[in-house]
Amino acid sequence: MKLGVLALQGDVREHIAALNECGVDAIPVRTSGEIRGIDGLVLPGGESTTIAKLARSFDLFDLISDRIREGLPTYGSCAGMILLANELVDGAIGQQTFGGLDVKVRRNAFGRQVDSFETDLSFQGVGSVHAVFIRAPWVETTSPGVQILASVEIDGSSHPVAVRQNHILATSFHPELTGDNRVHRYFVTEILNK
Ligand code: GLN
Repeated sequence: MKLGVLALQGDVREHIAALNECGVDAIPVRTSGEIRGIDGLVLPGGESTTIAKLARSFDLFDLISDRIREGLPTYGSCAGMILLANELVDGAIGQQTFGGLDVKVRRNAFGRQVDSFETDLSFQGVGSVHAVFIRAPWVETTSPGVQILASVEIDGSSHPVAVRQNHILATSFHPELTGDNRVHRYFVTEILNK
C-alpha cells in the first residue's frame, strides 16, 4: 500500500509524518505518474483555491478528480474537505473542487469571531479528539449515504465537521497538527485496508 499526500501547497509534511506513524508508506505526490501509482490519497490543509489552481496548471485536476470518483481511498483535512465537496457555499468566484463527496460545504464557515479555535469532539469510531480549526469549513448539508462522524455545536445548531462516504473521509479540522494520529489510523484501518 502506498499513500500519496498531494504536495502542491499546504501542510504536506505533517500528514506524511502522521501516516508514517500509522505504519504506512506515504510520499508527497505532484506528478501524474505519482498520482496514478498510489493506493490512497490525502489532500492536506492549506488553501483550497491555490491547490485547485495549481492542480489545473500542472494538468493534474481531472486525473485527481477521476481517481477519487473511481474509488481511490481519499482523506481531506480542512482545505482538503473543501476540495472533496461536490458543492460549495461561499466559495471563491469560479472555485472548482475535485468532488466525490456528496455534501455541500461552507467555506470559512465559522466566521471572524471564531476564525480559529480548538475544542474537544466526540468522533464516532475514534473517541474524544482534540480538534484544531483554522479558518475551517463545515458541512452544510449531506446526502443519504454520507455518515456524520463528528459535529460542533454553535448557538444551538449542530454542524458536521467530520464525514465519511464510502472510500472518502473529510474533516474540517487538522488532526495532522496535534500529534494524535488516531484519525489517520481510522482512515488507514477503516478505509484504506478494508
Ligand atoms: N480557508 C481555507 C480554504 O478555503 C482552508 C483553511 C485550512 O486548510 N486551514 O482553503
